Amino acid sequence: MKTAVIGFGAAAIGFIERLKGTEHEIHVFEQGKDIYSSSISGIRADGKLFVSKEMGGNIDIDVNLQKKLADYYIEKSGSNEYETGKSFKTQEYYETFYKEGFMPVKSDFYHLGTDQLKKVLYNIFEEFKSHKNIHFHFNHKVENIHFEGNKIIIDRNDSYDFVLTAVGRSGHKLIKNIIEKHPDLVLNNKNLDLGIRYEVPDHIVADLNKEMYEFKIKYKSRTGYMVRTFCNNPSGYVVRENYGDFVTVNGHAKLKEKSTNTNFAILTTVELTQPFNDPTGFGSYIAKLSNLLAGEDRVILQTYAKFKNSKRSKHLYRVLPTLSSEHYILGDINLAFPRRIIESIIDFIENLEKVIPGIAADDNLVYAPEIKFYSNVLDNKKFNNLKFGGDCSGLTRSIIYATAHGWMIADEIESKK
Ligand SMILES: Cc1cc2nc3c(=O)[nH]c(=O)nc-3n(C[C@H](O)[C@H](O)[C@H](O)COP(=O)(O)OP(=O)(O)OC[C@H]3O[C@@H](n4cnc5c(N)ncnc54)[C@H](O)[C@@H]3O)c2cc1C
Repeated sequence: MKTAVIGFGAAAIGFIERLKGTEHEIHVFEQGKDIYSSSISGIRADGKLFVSKEMGGNIDIDVNLQKKLADYYIEKSGSNEYETGKSFKTQEYYETFYKEGFMPVKSDFYHLGTDQLKKVLYNIFEEFKSHKNIHFHFNHKVENIHFEGNKIIIDRNDSYDFVLTAVGRSGHKLIKNIIEKHPDLVLNNKNLDLGIRYEVPDHIVADLNKEMYEFKIKYKSRTGYMVRTFCNNPSGYVVRENYGDFVTVNGHAKLKEKSTNTNFAILTTVELTQPFNDPTGFGSYIAKLSNLLAGEDRVILQTYAKFKNSKRSKHLYRVLPTLSSEHYILGDINLAFPRRIIESIIDFIENLEKVIPGIAADDNLVYAPEIKFYSNVLDNKKFNNLKFGGDCSGLTRSIIYATAHGWMIADEIESKK
């Protein structure tokens, strides 16, 4: 079977790993110019591999498969060096959070660190390349696909029996083009996670970092919105994330080089209802407004006390940002964010202070905007020979879930033989 894979990220890796060495002739189209390209694949920053039934996406993935894929990535690092832990394995921690209204999320994780990911990707690529049935086409951004009888044509060139579209979030233009032709592919489109990145000195969360590295909790705030932590980075760094027409904040940690601060996202899940159905547009406008206030390509930074009292920050005190100073402006996030989001975040932090003393200290740092866009959930049952794998399907949000999704799609093809 002549098979095309569009994109070489996590989902593509799972798919190819399952089909390598079979009789499938696999052609991989990747927009990045080569394997070293800085834009290639989502496996570029942080590299925290979660094995959990409770997070990573909205599909059911066997934990044994998740663990097998985590081991696969660790093995591809070639170093066997990683940090690892289990969130809320100690009942005492679980109960302390639970008592204050938080919902602790259980997961195992393995942290490779940003500094090792290039090597991981390179080793995977080299191994795939050694298989005769796998052909890479870099520097090829697929603009569109169309059906011709039982075949699928990519960019009016070659035809394929089967196509896996695995373009992640960065491939939203291709997905949009496909959806325009097949609008009934979209099953749902209403969620958005909007919030901040919070940065505190390591010592405030030292016990938690030591116990579980990644603490994931959810909390139903008094506004009715669900608030959650995401992507905790002990001794990590805050960075900007560039979406082309706006910038947001994100965080990561390295295996070797360490800062003295911990950062994590505090996100509010916004679920939009009729008649409004454009969560991406909503999030983009808020990001652009934040950037407008901060000056081009910059994010807003504010101390927690000023954030809470809606006053512009003009000075920092004890906590110094790990984001470099040309990327932020001291300002007031309240000018850009809806009140309900701000109130949800403040309620979350104030309540967290009961469990982690010092988390609500006046001079802790708040960066905005931090936004997690959800892709449309696409109907993978609509076509037999066109599937959407990983984050572009709207079903996954993590390296392991995306990789497993690609693997499972390949597994289904093999099981039908
Ligand atoms: C900064 C950052 C840090 C993250 N850290 C973590 C983490 O530590 N742990 C974790 O579990 N998750 C993390 N994630 C999320 C994770 O990266 C994604 O969930 C995962 O990579 C999704 O896999 P995917 O295969 O769907 O897409 P991706 O891995 O994003 O791969 C998509 C590929 O498709 C290519 N592409 C896009 N459009 C086209 C086109 N039209 N034609 C050809 N090629 C195209 C892209 O260049 C890319 O290589 C992080 C995400 C970001 C942005």
